[in-house]
Amino acid sequence: MTDCPLCERPGLDVERITVAAHTKEAQWPLGDDPFFHCPTPGCDAIYFTAAGRVLRKADVKTRVTFKERSSPRPLCYCKQVTEEDVIKAIENGASTFEDVKQITGIGGGGQCKVTNPAGRCCSRNYRPFIDGELAKRGLLKQALIQPGL
Ligand SMILES: [Zn+2]
Repeated sequence: MTDCPLCERPGLDVERITVAAHTKEAQWPLGDDPFFHCPTPGCDAIYFTAAGRVLRKADVKTRVTFKERSSPRPLCYCKQVTEEDVIKAIENGASTFEDVKQITGIGGGGQCKVTNPAGRCCSRNYRPFIDGELAKRGLLKQALIQPGL
């Protein structure tokens, strides 16, 4: 487990193809050290190495949803769906997760390793977000909202 040099919380393994796809050319070459992804909201580090090299938000081309406070906040990188798209779908009548999926086309892209800067499937982000937006409008019956979200 390697900790982020900025927030000192554990990083996630990330493949080189992911780092290369999202890092600005000004940061090349990326070298041979393995990179990790910092998942901490608000931390400026996106990728880092055990040797202490840090690629910050400004060094990365892609907006990382949970590091951004303003729109557009990408929810699904493969299908290029943002939080704003989801909210618009719900305002236009989508009342279930399946409705939102159908209207926005979110999910199922299968290219997350390259398109998502975390190198992971976006569903862990968009599912709670969609459920939360539905719940805010009283559309979600089940108690799926976790405390703190
Ligand atoms: Zn960090």
